[in-house]
Amino acid sequence: MRIGQRVGVAWLGNTCGGCSFCRNGEENLCDQPQFTGYTRDGGFATHVVADADYAFALDELADPVALAPLLCAGLIGWRSLKKAGDGMRIGLYGFGAAAHIITQVCVWQGRDVYAFSRAGDDTARRFALSLGAVWAGGSDERPPVMLDAAIIFAPVGALVPAALKAVRKGGRVVCGGIHMSDIPEMPYALIWGERSVVSVANLTRGDAEEFFPVARQAGVKTHTTGYSLADANRALDDLRTGRLSGAAVLTP
Ligand SMILES: [Zn+2]
Repeated sequence: MRIGQRVGVAWLGNTCGGCSFCRNGEENLCDQPQFTGYTRDGGFATHVVADADYAFALDELADPVALAPLLCAGLIGWRSLKKAGDGMRIGLYGFGAAAHIITQVCVWQGRDVYAFSRAGDDTARRFALSLGAVWAGGSDERPPVMLDAAIIFAPVGALVPAALKAVRKGGRVVCGGIHMSDIPEMPYALIWGERSVVSVANLTRGDAEEFFPVARQAGVKTHTTGYSLADANRALDDLRTGRLSGAAVLTP
């Protein structure tokens, strides 16, 4: 890394390097991690101090606002997609920042994306189809085929049984969020047939090394809505109520 180089800082701010997880290549599960904007300052800020080892080189020519969502939604989406496995039919529940990036990666990989959004959210549905999803519907609907895997980006526990119903035997449901409302009680039959449910926690630096070249090769174009730093609360409110498509980006 050199002085003046453009870098990005992600959620994973530091890891201990010594715990069993760090030593086994699972630094995302580190026992003593630091997270940007959570356990250390940064994130919603004009300036930030970061560890060079945890900063990622970014394309010097690209629009920084377009790059920003890759560092959060893109990385967690990429890790979720890896957990989903190699299946061709991928369901995405919650069509926000992460899903709009991962749809473009899946299409580039030759996979079929089935997009699920809030019932009646025609804007999200049209957005998904415009990015190459083969099908888009409400999260209360069943897709026209059984899925190999589904990734849930919305923090809604009720989507777990819904996604299990849509996934074939041996398929996997990946929960990509840090928080989720309670998963309702469900019949064992939904998980029978070697279906599995797994969560995704944080990211490793290896995820970033893999993902940025993939995003570039796939020609991922992020759709962003810009807000000034002073309008951060309005951005969060728009996110909660589903008023924005793609990713919200704060600029100082
Ligand atoms: Zn550790």
